[in-house]
Amino acid sequence: MVSEALETSQVLSEVLEDLRRHLLWQEEDGGRFLQMDARLAAEARAMRLPRPPAAVRPVPSAPASPAPVVERPAPARVPPPAPVAAPLVLPNVSAQARPSTGPLPGGERPTLDEIRRELGDCRRCKLCTGRKNIVFGSGNPRAELVFVGEGPGESEDLQGVPFVGAAGQLLTKMIEAMGYRRDDIYICNVVKCRPPSNRNPEPDEVSACEPFLRAQLKAIQPKAIVALGKFAAQTLLRDSTPITRLRGTWREYEGIQLMPTFHPAYLLRQPAEKRKAWEDLQQVMKFFGKPTGQRG
Ligand code: SF4
Repeated sequence: MVSEALETSQVLSEVLEDLRRHLLWQEEDGGRFLQMDARLAAEARAMRLPRPPAAVRPVPSAPASPAPVVERPAPARVPPPAPVAAPLVLPNVSAQARPSTGPLPGGERPTLDEIRRELGDCRRCKLCTGRKNIVFGSGNPRAELVFVGEGPGESEDLQGVPFVGAAGQLLTKMIEAMGYRRDDIYICNVVKCRPPSNRNPEPDEVSACEPFLRAQLKAIQPKAIVALGKFAAQTLLRDSTPITRLRGTWREYEGIQLMPTFHPAYLLRQPAEKRKAWEDLQQVMKFFGKPTGQRG
C-alpha cells in the first residue's frame, strides 16, 4: 500500500511538472490568455488536479498523440564524440564568401571574442547598410545547447542582442520550460545584421555571414543545437527540405546533434503549432537527461 501511494504521488508530481512547463511557455500576450492542451487538461482532471483557472481555454490536441504513458527520466545520453576541430578557415564556404580579411584566428578552437574581433565592423554583405548594430550572439560561451535563429529583427537590431522582441520572449519561455535559463545556453543567428523590413536573408547574405556562425559553433562545441526555423535548419544541414518535414527528427551537424523545430515568430502566428515545437524540445530535454514528465 505504501509503495503504491508513493508511486501515485510521483506520477502526480510528474504530471504537475509537465503541465507547469507546458503552460509556462504557452502563456502569451501579457497573460491575456493561456492555451492548454486538451489532453493534459483531461489528464489533470483524471488525476483530480484543481480545475484550470477561467482564463485557461482548451485547444485541440495533435491528432496523432499516442496514449499517455508515464515515462521515467532517462539517463543522460552520451552524444557521439565531436570530431577534432580543424584549423578555422571558414569551412564549407566558397572562397568568394570568405571574409576579405582572411581566415579567423584561434587555431583549432577559436574563442568567441576572437571571432567577434574578426567580424569587426563587417561590410561583407549589403545588410551592413541598414543595420544599427551587429547582433553577434549572447549566452554561455561553453553552453551544452545552442539555439540558432535566422536573423535579427527590429528590437534585436536596436539592442544588439538576439531574440529580445516578441519572438524572443517566447523563446525565453521555451528555454525556461526546458529547465534552462537564457544564461545557460547560447543564442545566435545565421545572419548578424537585420534584413530590411524583416525580409528573408538572401543567398549571398547567408553565404557571407554563415562562416561566422560555423565558427561560433566550433568555438562553443555544444552537445546539441536547436535550429529555429527553415533558414537555420536548411543552412546548417545543407538540406532544402521544408521545415515542416525537417522538424522533430534528430540530424547531425559536424558531429553535433541538431534538432530542427519551428521558429518562435512562426509560433506566434500559428499558436496551434506550439504543441509540435514542444514535442521537439522534449526530445532535446530527453537527450540531456532532463525529466520531461512526457507521457506517450
Ligand atoms: S550580415 Fe554578416 S556578413 Fe553581412 S554585413 Fe552583417 S555581419 Fe557582415
